Amino acid sequence: MPLIGCIADDFTGATDLASMLVRGGARTVQTIGVPEHLLDLEGADALVVALKSRNLAPAEAVAQSLRALEWLRAQGCRQFYFKYCSTFDSTAEGNIGPVADALLDALGSDFTVACPALPDNRRSVFNGYLFANDVLLNESGMQDHPLTPMRDANLLRVLQPQTRRRVGLIDYRTLRAGVEATRARIAALRADGIGIAISDAIDNSDLDVLGAACADLPLVTAGSGLALGLAAHWRASGELGGGQDAGRLEQPWGRQAILSGSCSRATLGQIEQARAAFPAFRLEAAELMARGDALVAEALAWSAEHGQRGPVLIYASSAPDEVRRVQEAFGGQVVGERIEAALAAIAKGLVEGQGVGQLLVAGGETSGAVVGVLGVEGLRIGPSIDPGVPWTQTLGQAGRPLSLALKSGNFGSADFMVKAWGMLA
Ligand code: ADP
Repeated sequence: MPLIGCIADDFTGATDLASMLVRGGARTVQTIGVPEHLLDLEGADALVVALKSRNLAPAEAVAQSLRALEWLRAQGCRQFYFKYCSTFDSTAEGNIGPVADALLDALGSDFTVACPALPDNRRSVFNGYLFANDVLLNESGMQDHPLTPMRDANLLRVLQPQTRRRVGLIDYRTLRAGVEATRARIAALRADGIGIAISDAIDNSDLDVLGAACADLPLVTAGSGLALGLAAHWRASGELGGGQDAGRLEQPWGRQAILSGSCSRATLGQIEQARAAFPAFRLEAAELMARGDALVAEALAWSAEHGQRGPVLIYASSAPDEVRRVQEAFGGQVVGERIEAALAAIAKGLVEGQGVGQLLVAGGETSGAVVGVLGVEGLRIGPSIDPGVPWTQTLGQAGRPLSLALKSGNFGSADFMVKAWGMLA
């Protein structure tokens, strides 16, 4: 039975958490939404359901999260983890508070912690204040976020209006005093009628203490960092079967391809390196708008010819001024969706018609379109290529599992697309 069932409020956040669990030694399966079909979850220590609930209306986010909880309970998970962003992305209405409230109610529990800290990425919580890249959250750039502007770094003040429970604090002094002191603090907060405690964490050792102190809570809520602390506790108590092999995947097979619809700066740099190393086909946006499926067919014919020996690269990614030009000509959303659909159709053609068994996709929305067209419901999480971007293998597909690396825009080092292939075999 899985030790933990996780509900993540967005797709790349789910992958980040899943790769953290693997790093901690837990064999992990990630699903895309609540799966409709039966998946082979044999041997999984952790399950992560990826939702897209961060920016939904609170009632809808709650409904989706409860459906995920129900599925995770049916798989036998004994503890639950609500995962949100390490910058605590939320509005005065939610969705962190409402989802945490609903999950606690459903689990019949009166207490949980809230800890977005991810010290490896310089997100820390000190006396209840969240720091991002070493400055207060509201000075980190997050104050200008288009959907969830964070104008207060004090997480007690941020969370209180979102929840009907009282919010309290587990401070770093308590954590530094150890696991027993932290458990005692949790008991005292509970006795005081506190329902959700923001927890400090300045470095990973604080997360280890918190993880051990929270091991018996039915629900934790956190960024991906707390997974390290929980996994350390499971390792210490001998509950993990995977160990070093937690990220082991089946032998990869088939041809290799890279598809990119991300125009983020990091991706553009990665494409430069990939173009120097592999045959490349540029899917030009204006040409796609004019020629449509004919250009998709041309890209597939090109790949059939060039994909014999190593990876091929097919990309729509362009520099900002070019993106602006096509967006002005055709409308940003229209172009974006047309490119996503084209890359998804190419992915289908490569996998179903050309024996591609290893596929790297750059772009969050682009990845969503590709897994959608391929009907992927579940992914076994393998070794990380770079932080937050693991190789994965599909579950529940007909035939052999497809190896997939799904990279959101700004992730990965400059040589990501080149080095990834050596890390799968
Ligand atoms: P990221 O993770 O970098 O944000 P996404 O795939 O989520 O990448 O989003 C990139 C969006 O830009 C997609 O909708 C994609 O179709 C679109 N796009 C890709 N190439 C171009 C281009 N050359 N011109 C305009 N839009 C583009």
